[in-house]
Amino acid sequence: MAKQYVMVIQASKCIGCQACTVACKFQNEVPEGQYRTKSPAVGPTGTYPNVKLYFEKEACQMCKNAPCVAVCPTKASYHNEDGVVLVDSNKCVGCKYCMTACPYDARFINEETGAADKCSFCYEHRVSQGEKPACVSTCVGGALSFGDLNDPNSDVKKLLDKYKAEVRKPEFGTHPNVYYIYEGVK
Ligand code: SF4
Ligand code: SF4
Ligand code: SF4
Repeated sequence: MAKQYVMVIQASKCIGCQACTVACKFQNEVPEGQYRTKSPAVGPTGTYPNVKLYFEKEACQMCKNAPCVAVCPTKASYHNEDGVVLVDSNKCVGCKYCMTACPYDARFINEETGAADKCSFCYEHRVSQGEKPACVSTCVGGALSFGDLNDPNSDVKKLLDKYKAEVRKPEFGTHPNVYYIYEGVK
């Protein structure tokens, strides 16, 4: 059966340390001042003593129905055999159509390569070799889970069976493969 790789983010476990952000930059040689992922604070909301604040990891949402793939004139943006959205930097002409089309502001032009760049689920150097993505392996709080949703024994399947999860901006019809669990923080 084909794999369906997903990331599940448990907001209640994220302490906002940005270890994921740093690990991602090292693993993927992201240029200075550019980022494939960040985990900014959301809030504080409410009034004392009922104040809430949590952190929400931002990156490519690995859309099944990906506008970035649809608009790319050179097919540099594509879904691979495991449903992961990737960019072939050799085919990218830097037109930025994908950046405009992405509802999640997940892409940027890599200052060193001149090609569109974004989270790759660490597919090429880690996941295809049987390893977890760098951000998942590094997460201090254990807030990030990654795996094949088609595997009934995977952590991600168990988490999504147990908890109510949300996707970002469902109104765009992009059908993300990144899920957020807000249990305990909202
Ligand atoms: S989040 Fe943006 S860059 Fe990532 S697959 Fe969706 S549309 Fe493409
Ligand atoms: S910037 Fe590159 S990946 Fe994005 S639409 Fe243009 S050619 Fe495709
Ligand atoms: S999966 Fe890899 S590329 Fe994506 S945010 Fe995590 S470390 Fe960065």
